[in-house]
Order: sequence, then structure tokens, then C-alpha cells
Amino acid sequence: MPKVSIIGAGLAGAEAAWQLAQRSVAVELYEMRPDKMTPAHHSEYFAELVCSNSLRAAGLENAVGLLKEEMRRLNSLVIQTADETAVPAGGALAVDRERFSGQMTQRLRAHPLIRVWRQEVRQVPPAGRGIVIIASGPLTSDSLAASVEQLTGETHLAFYDAAAPIVTWESVDMSRAFWASRYDKGDADYLNCPMTRDEYARFYEALISAQTAEIKDLERGGGLAVFEGCMPIEVMAGRGEQTLLFGPLKPVGLQDPACGQRPYAVVQLRKENLAGTLLNLVGFQTRLKWGEQQRVFRLIPALRQAEFVRFGVMHRNTFINAPKLLRADYSLKKRPELFFAGQISGVEGYVESAASGLTAGLNAWRRINGRETLVFPAETALGGLARHVAGSPSQDFQPMNINFGLLPPWPERIRGKREKNAKIAQRALSALDGFMVEQGIG
Ligand SMILES: Cc1cc2nc3c(=O)[nH]c(=O)nc-3n(C[C@H](O)[C@H](O)[C@H](O)COP(=O)(O)OP(=O)(O)OC[C@H]3O[C@@H](n4cnc5c(N)ncnc54)[C@H](O)[C@@H]3O)c2cc1C
Repeated sequence: MPKVSIIGAGLAGAEAAWQLAQRSVAVELYEMRPDKMTPAHHSEYFAELVCSNSLRAAGLENAVGLLKEEMRRLNSLVIQTADETAVPAGGALAVDRERFSGQMTQRLRAHPLIRVWRQEVRQVPPAGRGIVIIASGPLTSDSLAASVEQLTGETHLAFYDAAAPIVTWESVDMSRAFWASRYDKGDADYLNCPMTRDEYARFYEALISAQTAEIKDLERGGGLAVFEGCMPIEVMAGRGEQTLLFGPLKPVGLQDPACGQRPYAVVQLRKENLAGTLLNLVGFQTRLKWGEQQRVFRLIPALRQAEFVRFGVMHRNTFINAPKLLRADYSLKKRPELFFAGQISGVEGYVESAASGLTAGLNAWRRINGRETLVFPAETALGGLARHVAGSPSQDFQPMNINFGLLPPWPERIRGKREKNAKIAQRALSALDGFMVEQGIG
């Protein structure tokens, strides 16, 4: 029976394992948790979502919505499970994180072809040990990271990423908060915490003068380099007093029912679980010290008695210089039986990590059967992502979320962005359907 070893049962490793096992390939799945935890994971579940519980936009006029639909057509376990454990989140696909990773773990453990090893893999397996997929994520253990570095001869790029705090719903002062979505679009899925000009000024002063936690190893990535989408709130605030009002605290499209007016600033809370008992502070990723988080965030009137069940934290993010090292099928140029998938391969985001795991899994299966590996058509989101990883300039390479800029532009001028994106998405899905028939996948 052909066999593939996978290191890491996160978003990418779990998806790769599923794709292989469903194609009758035996999988040895190595996961170091719970024996050895990462700084961001809290459970022993596979595919744990370490920060937001959102897999981002659901609609096809958004590139990540398209990517999800492509994966759905390829029987992605991550997307199927997300659909089954979804919680209301306006136009986004957000999940009950416990049910999501609990169900992922159950499905993988129950598969007769998947054998799980709860242990840290400290070294990249040497050549001759069969096909291996390295999917150990942005928080790859130090020893494995050192071994990857030795193998690739490249210095890892390491930088930092941040997670937002979570509060209990019952601790929110509902006399100073209201449920609504911007412009009343869709369901009222966000709990909005308004602030007056004075309240905002007090909060802002406290935020920019609060103490931050020290982060070791900072100089490794050449400074505090973070994704724009996950930028700590205090770093964003440091850009100017108005910046947050155009970012996570923007009041547009919201009216406070208490006074019938648009607030000066609004903090939005999003459900963390189906029951809605836990809420995360949208856009409040932070590296403030925990005591400082409590002090500063309680200056938001609705949160003055807030109970924090998780504070925001910042973490390392490790990835290889993919354009130098990988082919667009996610295999290592110098060792084609070795694949990288997930964040360590140079993609960014839960969905993108799972998407690269899906592709690496499919290609490991093809390689085992002596068939050419595949790269999805350039018109598809899966293809655009793979081409970004393998085909970007290697100098200053940065992982990237999927976006329509990674796909060929629409050949004619179309005025509306939504209309144009919808056409690009339809083109992608037709290309994918044709490709799946041609290649006998799906
Ligand atoms: C703090 C933080 C917050 C993030 N927030 C978001 C977010 O809100 N939204 C978003 O879309 N993306 C976010 N990301 C980015 C990224 O999407 C996630 O990290 C995602 O989980 C990456 O998927 P993965 O499969 O590559 O890695 P992971 O899901 O982390 O899986 C890797 C697995 O490998 C295991 N492992 C590590 N080393 C070894 C070893 N040596 N042997 C065996 N097992 C090992 C780990 O325990 C883990 O289970 C965040 C990243 C971080 C670090």
C-alpha cells in the first residue's frame, strides 16, 4: 500500500491527509500536540483555528469566497466541515471553533487509512523515506525549523503575527451596545460598542501609552514585520489619532439606537461560538501586556466590566523563501518527493493554508502513482495562489492572502468591481470544472 508521511495536523496537514486517504493512500500523520504545544494553540484538536473564527468572505465576488468554492468542488474536508459548523457572520463564513476542529479530528481519526502519531518530528526525514509533506505551520517547532533551514540552505524569514482578545457576552454592558450590521445588510451579527468623541480620546491616549509585551527574536525578521490584516491595534493607533476611525473603529453604516445618531467611533464584537456566549474584539490584535489590555479595553464604555477569557497575543511566523525553493506543485525543487504546505510554504491564511494542503495532497497522490503533478489553471484561485508561491520575486518574498490581483485580469473594461469580480469568478469555476474532467480529479 503506498504511503505518505505528513508532519503537522493543522489546516494544511489535515486537508492533505484527507485528500490522500480518500484516494486510497495510507497516511502517517504526525502531530506534536498535546505533548508539545505551540504558543498559539490551546487544544489537542487538528486544524485548530488559533485566532479569528472566520474563514473570511463567503461570496464569489471576493477572491477568498472563490477559493472556498473551488475547494468545495474538490471535496475539501476543511470547507465541508466549516459549512457544517458555521455560525452567523453576515457575508463571511465563520465557524464555531470547537465544533469545527472537533469534527475535523473525529473524521480524520475515524479514517481507516490514516494513522496518527502524537509526536514531534525533530528533523526533516532523509531522502529515501518516501513522500513527505511538511505542514508544520507558522509555529513550527524549533528543532524542525532548524532542520528545514539546514536542508534548504536558506535563512528563514521569521516575523510576528497577532491575535485579538475574547470577552464573555454576559459581561458586556448592553445598555451601551447594540446588535447591527453595517448599513443593516444581512443579519445583525455584530455587537457594536459606540464611543463619543471624549470617550474615544481617553481610550486613544491610554492605548498609545500602554505597555507592550517584549518579544524575543524581534531582530530576526529585520524589525516588527506584521501582516497589514493582522496589525496590532496599538501599532495602527500609533500612525495617528484618526487612523482607527478609518479602520477597525470606523462608525460608517451604523446608527446608535439609543440616540438615533452615528457614533463617533465603534468597536465591533463578533460571535466566537454558535451560542454567542463568547465574542471577539474585531481588529483588536495586540501585543499589549495582559494587565494593560484589561485596563485600556475597559475604557470602551460597553466593556467597562468585561470579562476577558482570552487576551490578545503575538506570535512567531515561520515560512520558507518559496519562490526560490518550491515548484508550483508545492514540491521542493531539489527533492521532488518532499512537499511543503500551509503557512510554512508561503501562503497566508486559514483557507489558503488548507488550499495548499489540498494541492500538495493531490500531487503527492499523483507522484505515488508515477503521474505528472498538477498545477491548477492560472484563471483559478488555487492556480493563482500556487503561482504566487512559486513565481513571485524571491527577494523580499512575503506570504499573501488570495486576491483577484493574483489572477489574470478581465480582458475588457467593466465599470463595477463586483460585476468584474463575478465574471472572473465564473471564468475560474469553468476553468476548474474543465480541468477536473481532463485530469480525472474530484
Ligand atoms: C497567532 C496567529 C494568528 C493567526 N490568525 C489568523 C487568522 O485570524 N486568520 C487567518 O486566516 N489566518 C491566521 N493565521 C495564519 C494561518 O492561517 C494559521 O496559522 C493557519 O493555522 C496555518 O495553517 P497551517 O496548516 O500552515 O499551520 P497550523 O494550523 O499551525 O498547523 C501546523 C501543525 O503542525 C504542528 N507542528 C509544528 N511543528 C511540528 C513538529 N515538529 N512535529 C509535529 N507537529 C508539528 C502544530 O502543532 C500544528 O498543529 C494566524 C497565525 C498565527 C501564528
